[in-house]
Amino acid sequence: MSKYDVIVIGSGIGGLVTATQLAAKGIKVLVLERYLIPGGSAGYFEREGYRFDVGASMIFGFGTEGTTNLLTRALDAVDMKMETYADPVQIHYHLPDNLDLKVHRDYDKYLQELYARFPDEEEGIKKFYDECWKVFNCLNTMELLSLEEVRYLTRVFFQHPLACLGLVKYLPLNVGDIARKYIKNPELLKFIDMECYCWSVVPADKTPMINAGMVFSDRHYGGINYPKGGVGQIALKLVEGLENHGGEIHYGARVTEIVTQGNCAIAVRLADGTEYQADRIVSNATRWDTFEKLIEKEKPAKEKRWENNYKQSPSFLSLHLGVDAKVLPPNTECHHIILENWSNLEAEQGTIFVSIPTLLDPSLAPEGYHIIHTFTPSYIDYWKGLSGQQYEYKKEEAAGRLIERLEKIFPGLDVGLDYMEIGTPRTHRRFLNRDNGTYGPIPRRKLKGLLSMPFNRTAVKNLYCVGDSTFPGQGLNAVAFSGFSCAHRIAVDLGY
Ligand SMILES: Cc1cc2nc3c(=O)[nH]c(=O)nc-3n(C[C@H](O)[C@H](O)[C@H](O)COP(=O)(O)OP(=O)(O)OC[C@H]3O[C@@H](n4cnc5c(N)ncnc54)[C@H](O)[C@@H]3O)c2cc1C
Repeated sequence: MSKYDVIVIGSGIGGLVTATQLAAKGIKVLVLERYLIPGGSAGYFEREGYRFDVGASMIFGFGTEGTTNLLTRALDAVDMKMETYADPVQIHYHLPDNLDLKVHRDYDKYLQELYARFPDEEEGIKKFYDECWKVFNCLNTMELLSLEEVRYLTRVFFQHPLACLGLVKYLPLNVGDIARKYIKNPELLKFIDMECYCWSVVPADKTPMINAGMVFSDRHYGGINYPKGGVGQIALKLVEGLENHGGEIHYGARVTEIVTQGNCAIAVRLADGTEYQADRIVSNATRWDTFEKLIEKEKPAKEKRWENNYKQSPSFLSLHLGVDAKVLPPNTECHHIILENWSNLEAEQGTIFVSIPTLLDPSLAPEGYHIIHTFTPSYIDYWKGLSGQQYEYKKEEAAGRLIERLEKIFPGLDVGLDYMEIGTPRTHRRFLNRDNGTYGPIPRRKLKGLLSMPFNRTAVKNLYCVGDSTFPGQGLNAVAFSGFSCAHRIAVDLGY
């Protein structure tokens, strides 16, 4: 039986950042990935000359300044670099009552668009986003590592006392509280709900201010940058850096059990019976997969408490489309959010997300064609109990409805289709290995900001969790944060 210092189950960005950080310190790491390539929700697949991103495509964390550019930093730690394309507009919103707005990379240009639509709220808008900048500026001055490590906390407090106190103030707050303090216009408050929903999948009242501070500011600071060659390149580069630093990764390696002795994780067992021992084990699977499927013991009380606060978000219905370039009107932006009726914001197949990465990197599609990746929240229950034929029919029907709605901004889309692949929550569950295909945890009710989100250590000794079911939640830069802090905590625990 082979023995490692650390085994990481899963090669999502959270798992890979943990592994590369540890390997860079000379720690012997093995990553076990169930699928054939790395990346998880930040992976890719190729069909008929198109390279599609599985999920993530609006990428934060590739800035060059400050400390919150965690993807740049993670790659740099293992001597890797990534070429990116700067996206001039984060999102083009197409919302009810012709609320048509673009979030420009240029902050002032964005504010001018908002002021033009809501002239009476100019002061409130400024004050609201100013508070977001305060959060971001606190985060962006300090090295971001494990909040479970007392010596780091002490050091960072003495280096940046004001920034730390600022973060302590915002940690228990949600966006809705701050927004309502400054803004009265109901339509503008709904817009702020959508600004949150499109990455946190909950409205402003349930979205932690810390995450919003990052997202609403970094898009104008480090900006949104698309990796050359597609999002999948991030994971591939991290793997290259991992291997160059002595780490290992095995693909097609499905972990079926985290072996424990007493209350201590000591090894992992694969579907083929192979066992690997390690001093520390990290799970990049979701908490539901980790504690319900990989560990035979009764779920720890700490996990049960967590589940009283958080539930699974929906998964998505995704269409990966190859389309004739003529379908895109001139000056089309890369990312769009579409909603026709505010009451459907959180509904099954309500809000539509669109990403057209080929506008930034044309090499991802055959010449004269573009990729439109569109997805909309959907629960697995909607797709349960169907025969093979019924499932196929329901997929086609749902895809047809989505395309019809998209025709409003891309007239001629249906006729211009060259390729279509439909993914449902069942597809996400199968290929991303995520319980019910969930996007990740969301608060069951209004919580105190990020206070109840767990860090990396778990109730099982020597077992850590990393990724979107740990602090600070979903998104590539967020799970990179989780990876930095997990690796830091483990390195300290191993005496490095
Ligand atoms: C449709 C969609 C769009 C998104 N858009 C964006 C976006 O624009 N911007 C953004 O920042 N984020 C976006 N996200 C969110 C982001 O992709 C995720 O939050 C992030 O990638 C999650 O990373 P992770 O490390 O937590 O885990 P995952 O990506 O879930 O990776 C976990 C890995 O572990 C492996 N694994 C699981 N169980 C086992 C096992 N038993 N044995 C071996 N391996 C196992 C899986 O195969 C997988 O590779 C999007 C997500 C989706 C689904």
